[in-house]
Amino acid sequence: MEKFADIVVPVARGVFTFRVEEGMPLRPGVGVEVVMGARKRYLGIVWRLHGEAPAFRTKPVERLLTAEPLLTPLQMRLWEWVADYYLCSLGDVMRFALPAALKPAGLTEDEFRSEAYRPATVRCLRLGEGLADEEAFRAACGQLRRAPAQEALLRRVRERLAGADGAFVLRSELGTSAPLADKLVARGLLREEVRETAACGRPAFRPEEAALAPLTPAQEQARQAIVASFASCGTTLLWGVTGSGKTEIYLHLIADVLARGGSVLYLMPEIAMTAQLVARVRRAFGDRVIVYHSKCTDRQRAEIYRTLLASPGGELVLGARSAIFLPIGNLRLVVVDEEHDASYKQAEPAPRYQARDCVVWLARQAGAKCLLASATPSIETWVNARGGKYGFVKLTERYGEARLPQVQISDSQRAFRRGERRQHFDKLLLDSLGAVLERGAQAILFQNRRGFAPWVACEPCGWVARCPRCSVTLTYHKQRQRLECHMCGYVMPLPHQCPQCGAPSPQLMGLGTEKIEEEVAALFPAARILRLDRDTASSPSRYRAIVETFERGEADILVGTQMLAKGFDFPRVELVGVLNADSLLNFPDFRAAERAFQLLTQVTGRAGRANARGEAIIQTSQPEHPVLRRVQTLDYEGMVAAQLAERSLFGYPPYGKLIVVTLRHRDATLVAEAAAWLAAQMRRQFAKRVFGPHAPVIEKVNEESCQEILLKIENGLSAATVKTALSGLLAAVADHARYRKVFVFCDVDPQ
Ligand code: ADP
Ligand code: ZN
Ligand code: ZN
Repeated sequence: MEKFADIVVPVARGVFTFRVEEGMPLRPGVGVEVVMGARKRYLGIVWRLHGEAPAFRTKPVERLLTAEPLLTPLQMRLWEWVADYYLCSLGDVMRFALPAALKPAGLTEDEFRSEAYRPATVRCLRLGEGLADEEAFRAACGQLRRAPAQEALLRRVRERLAGADGAFVLRSELGTSAPLADKLVARGLLREEVRETAACGRPAFRPEEAALAPLTPAQEQARQAIVASFASCGTTLLWGVTGSGKTEIYLHLIADVLARGGSVLYLMPEIAMTAQLVARVRRAFGDRVIVYHSKCTDRQRAEIYRTLLASPGGELVLGARSAIFLPIGNLRLVVVDEEHDASYKQAEPAPRYQARDCVVWLARQAGAKCLLASATPSIETWVNARGGKYGFVKLTERYGEARLPQVQISDSQRAFRRGERRQHFDKLLLDSLGAVLERGAQAILFQNRRGFAPWVACEPCGWVARCPRCSVTLTYHKQRQRLECHMCGYVMPLPHQCPQCGAPSPQLMGLGTEKIEEEVAALFPAARILRLDRDTASSPSRYRAIVETFERGEADILVGTQMLAKGFDFPRVELVGVLNADSLLNFPDFRAAERAFQLLTQVTGRAGRANARGEAIIQTSQPEHPVLRRVQTLDYEGMVAAQLAERSLFGYPPYGKLIVVTLRHRDATLVAEAAAWLAAQMRRQFAKRVFGPHAPVIEKVNEESCQEILLKIENGLSAATVKTALSGLLAAVADHARYRKVFVFCDVDPQ
């Protein structure tokens, strides 16, 4: 018998070896209680059992906590892959991937236990002793002659159970007759039992219950092409214009898989998770759908995790990026909607993973098919699909009578010179908005900054309000009448005079959604206006309320940030206005052009979703910018070609791989020193592939200073070898007498 166990614990260092006492039946994946350091207790996961005694004195495993493994073998391999690929520890993966409620931790045994997850239970009812027997049942009904409602319920329950042994109904399924059931329990004619929800099993999927719309010929053709592509390429890209009905295609593919007992993982960006799309999927598949995103409570997450762990398959999980870590049995299909979306990449904390890339790996390991879909695919995916690594299917027409919107570009500076601009609206947009309101249609106005004024400045002396903790300007929020930091949440009142020179009333500069709302209300006093951004949609219910009000046509104009770009389908929207595209175009990043194209195509794609032909107007001071021209002509391929030409010159993805090493500490001098030291070490190993150190765009966040070192690895060089060498250097920082206090981490494939 093996005497030692390598156990993963949710701390940064990750894996530790413990002694296994005689007779403790451990196996990989089960949860155990271990004590770390002097006395802190954790739930650990047994990773490997072996007989290799380590050099140090081992502590014993305290207790076995779960008879069954908490992870499937496939999940264990996923964790290992993620830790390896994204340069973090298994402990980091565990901290993030396992729901908090399944990972008790505490200083004393009591604390540990009281924190431990108690599974949710349900009340179940079965027939009273002996009542499966016809005779006895008739006698029982005889007792109920004066209580016909109870008798009817008893008969209903018996019919439902159809004499099946051990069968039960959920008390909640009885709806309003549940109180009657209690009376039957009191008489001993029904028996109540409390069971763990996860152990109750889930009813099998009945294909005839799925509410699917029939596909159009173009959609059906795309569906068949996807199925054919799956036969040779496990991963396939569906390139379908906005409004082509990609969702309907997924729903058909999903129904097929469920009907055969397979499970489906359907990923969408976090923002879309609270919107109409979820409702559409629920309409198709009802309660079968398991929805998993960041707004779920700890308890709900743990419950979902348990339910899936107990299920052999046939599940449909709809989730944001973290859903890739769920134990989904018999996974047959993965759908990644809006696969280009940056929110699939986690920036903080570790693991800094890209869910789309992980899931391509996961699907291949599980032998499942993977569908990546977008109107504006990421360049990486596009290259994989066009290069034959992935399958490729396209859908070029919108559903029904809908046409793609006509996109116009408005030169704001010219409008200003000609006196054809009122506040932040060019004449073109104003006229169009007026006409839309006149005919009772709806409009969307997009500006990618929330608040009223993104910065506040003093004209005479040049003072600008900045966050004392971060290197960013403070945004003025008019409704809340204060300045706020969008990085750390710092707030302060708007000063009445300049703190530097004493001049009165600093100027409110720049343009946020709150200001647009105010301006448009003044320009069109009769219009009903809603605003959708992180301030107004502070909870899922407020978010839904705004979306539904607009959907019902109880508002004419919806003003918002990029929250509007995803997963929306408002048939009455005939105009989309982009107030200022400049900030998107000027972003200092090699992906800026790609991102701007994607965002503008998605936003303008909200127009003209039903019968009418939609219209989109983009205001800018750079009307000749090639990205805007390509948005206008719907020239995705032209954008890709231009970007590829540029990236190949500089070795950016997909021609090379990037890893950013970030160092962080409150002491700016120490960080700079440590960064210079690490960069020098890296140069010895990787020579000219190392760039920096340099301060990132936002140098200081929450009083911590940052330095970054960029590592650019050309294709053809083994990324695995580079990572091994890099891990060695990071360990050297962690052991360095002076620099060990500096927090260092890697971001592999940064977005
Ligand atoms: P995409 O995701 O490709 O942008 P959607 O899936 O949101 O497009 O579809 C756009 C609109 O067309 C939605 O209102 C959708 O319900 C409708 N639609 C698409 N295909 C069909 C169909 N086959 N039958 C009925 N309605 C459809
Ligand atoms: Zn701040
Ligand atoms: Zn001043």
